[in-house]
Amino acid sequence: MRRRQILNVGVLLAAMIAWVVADVAGRQQPKGDPFTTAIVKIKEGLYVIPGYDGAATGGNVAVRVTTEGAIIVDDKLPALYTDIVDKVKSVTPQPIKYVLSTHQHGDHTGSNAAFLKTAEILMHRNARANMITQNLAGPGRIVYTDQQSLFLGGVEVQMRYLGRGHTNGDSVVYFQDLRTIHTGDLVVWGKRSQGTTLTPFMDYAAGNGSGKEWVATLDKVLALDFDTAIPGHGPVLTKADVRAFRDKMQTLNQRMAAFIASGGKKQDIASRIQLDDINWPFQPDALHGLYDELSKR
Ligand SMILES: [Zn+2]
Repeated sequence: MRRRQILNVGVLLAAMIAWVVADVAGRQQPKGDPFTTAIVKIKEGLYVIPGYDGAATGGNVAVRVTTEGAIIVDDKLPALYTDIVDKVKSVTPQPIKYVLSTHQHGDHTGSNAAFLKTAEILMHRNARANMITQNLAGPGRIVYTDQQSLFLGGVEVQMRYLGRGHTNGDSVVYFQDLRTIHTGDLVVWGKRSQGTTLTPFMDYAAGNGSGKEWVATLDKVLALDFDTAIPGHGPVLTKADVRAFRDKMQTLNQRMAAFIASGGKKQDIASRIQLDDINWPFQPDALHGLYDELSKR
């Protein structure tokens, strides 16, 4: 095909993908439990573009507006790049200069490749390594190991590595002056856009995550001074909500450890480990990794 035809096909394809994503999100919207992905102001200079799942809506995007440019945290899926740019434009004339990626997963880094043309991308060293290993597009150009700060327009934004959990490269982004954090998938909350309940995912296979160390990591998160938390997916939370999530993770670990100590077999996890009271409806095989990790001596 000639170049113009290829371009036209590309534009058409992008439009179709956007339409399909919008349609899927629309159709999956549960009755009586509406969700919106409209950009919302949560503090002066800080906005969220909501994300409820790993597919249609992706993860939560935080938008920090400064006089010298915008800083965003995470960037959903490739098909939502234009949507993110448009929504940021609706709250500031400043360009998006930095993208901070909380971890490597595609529903948080999906637009990285597009943003790399005009912005710098920052992430934890392990998150970058995981992206390289899995051949994911848009690995960050700037990495850190313990913590780093970004200064722009009189604003400081920190990235902190507080230990393993969802992966081995989860960053907590700390807007200290606004007493607000973005946790990435170290905390998830509520329902996906198609109505199912979100449960924490320990990415052992591609992220070297740890359910066992997750609680201690959350204790370090809770040691930060904040009153507002943007989870990886779901509604904006209070510090008490984050503490409740941490307690559920501890309960899960304790029940799994007791099950293993009593000689429980992996295939009986779903029938023997009761989690209704903490409302974490895991898929039957989703806890096999935690079983293996806690079985190691
Ligand atoms: Zn994730």
